[in-house]
Amino acid sequence: MPVAMRCPARAFRDMSRGRAVIAGRRVESANMDFSIPDEVARLRERTERFVRDAILPREADPRQTAHGPTEEFRLDLVALARRAGLLSPHVGREWGGLGLDHRAKAVVFEAAGYAPLATIAMNVFAPDEANMHLLEQVGDGQQKEQWLRPLASGAIRSCFMMTEPAPGAGADPSMLLTTARRTKAAADSEFVIDGTKWLVTGAVGARLAIIMARTEDDRLGPAGATMFLSRMDAPGIHVERLLDTLDQYMTGGHAVVRLEGLRLPESAVLGRVGEGFRYAQARLAPARLTHCMRWLGAARRCHDIATDYARTRHAFGKPLGEHEGVGFMLADNEMDIHTCRLAIWHAAWLLDQAERARHESSMAKVICSEAIWRVVDRSMQILGGLGITDDTIVARLFREVRPFRIYDGPSEVHRWSIAQRVLRTGGLG
Ligand SMILES: Cc1cc2nc3c(=O)[nH]c(=O)nc-3n(C[C@H](O)[C@H](O)[C@H](O)COP(=O)(O)OP(=O)(O)OC[C@H]3O[C@@H](n4cnc5c(N)ncnc54)[C@H](O)[C@@H]3O)c2cc1C
Repeated sequence: MPVAMRCPARAFRDMSRGRAVIAGRRVESANMDFSIPDEVARLRERTERFVRDAILPREADPRQTAHGPTEEFRLDLVALARRAGLLSPHVGREWGGLGLDHRAKAVVFEAAGYAPLATIAMNVFAPDEANMHLLEQVGDGQQKEQWLRPLASGAIRSCFMMTEPAPGAGADPSMLLTTARRTKAAADSEFVIDGTKWLVTGAVGARLAIIMARTEDDRLGPAGATMFLSRMDAPGIHVERLLDTLDQYMTGGHAVVRLEGLRLPESAVLGRVGEGFRYAQARLAPARLTHCMRWLGAARRCHDIATDYARTRHAFGKPLGEHEGVGFMLADNEMDIHTCRLAIWHAAWLLDQAERARHESSMAKVICSEAIWRVVDRSMQILGGLGITDDTIVARLFREVRPFRIYDGPSEVHRWSIAQRVLRTGGLG
């Protein structure tokens, strides 16, 4: 079915005062300006053209598995984005990217999300996009040279190991059971890591692992956790099995990984020992927002397909869309999409003001993960039987967006932490 590409509202200005409550501190910010700079608008147009001309025709490529595209297909996609000058737009220019700020990312990632394979081509998919962001923020020069540069070029992939099977870290990361024991057995001190991680996206085929482990000898005691960088082929890392999951787009799928006697030198510590939870938060606030950006593009695609169908398919003597029940679903889709975009742009803007935006990114995550789910679900309903077939991408995206209400913090946990801040500070007022 042909699908028209459509841009979000070109530009608008909101001159209201922006306010944010950050860690109990009420921050009065400068005026919000939601206009899209010309160079970002041009980049969006190029991304839309790339999606239309290079990606949509490849969506039926058989080199897609239940665990994402094969590595060969991923590299082909990356080559296309590189040729189009669209590779790793989120990474700093010195590392081979385009150096976009968060607001520009909101515009470009949404355009890429229209076809999820485009996010893989452009190297802005999870977890690599967030891992690159973390490396850029926290890594030292040598770590960036060794890992960030090849990641940004799309030559290699990475994974992030935090979650553990019960009774370990899940919605509550402080329940981390994986340990990193410092040992002086070797000439230089090193860490020995033991534990089990699961739901590790992209573990199969990744070259780099970012591992969260509890460093019990740290002065921070049980509160301490540290992030480590490790080669995935290091002795002591065992990918036990690939999980069969509802979603199927993410490259490498999701795996269970056993860490047994993994020995890492001091130089493998990302940032500082004992700061892992702080870095995890610094990674997550922008990371959950970029998920919102990408899946918003996918929701818009479903809405476009449903709108097309509602215009052309007839029932009871008129086009489906002329029936109020269907029209209302389109209207609700439109409002959900608009609300998501505003929530994303506002949180992105705060991040660009060097605010932590934990409150706003939490709210955006709940708003978007739930609204995007509703949009895709309504679109499927409008399509009737066609919606549950793979003749459109809607059924596929339906499977993809459901887990978004769980990863990067389940809705309930975000609501809970939002409520804590409201109780503490009165919220945004
Ligand atoms: C597709 C996908 C990809 C993922 N990729 C990665 C990855 O690459 N790396 C990684 O480390 N992890 C990854 N995860 C794991 C993800 O971060 C966890 O699933 C998430 O943090 C929730 O943890 P859990 O599954 O252990 O849920 P649990 O901690 O077992 O919680 C189960 C449910 O309990 C409820 N709940 C929990 N706390 C509260 C509360 N305070 N109030 C009310 N209700 C509550 C929520 O409904 C929650 O869904 C991924 C998960 C998915 C689904």
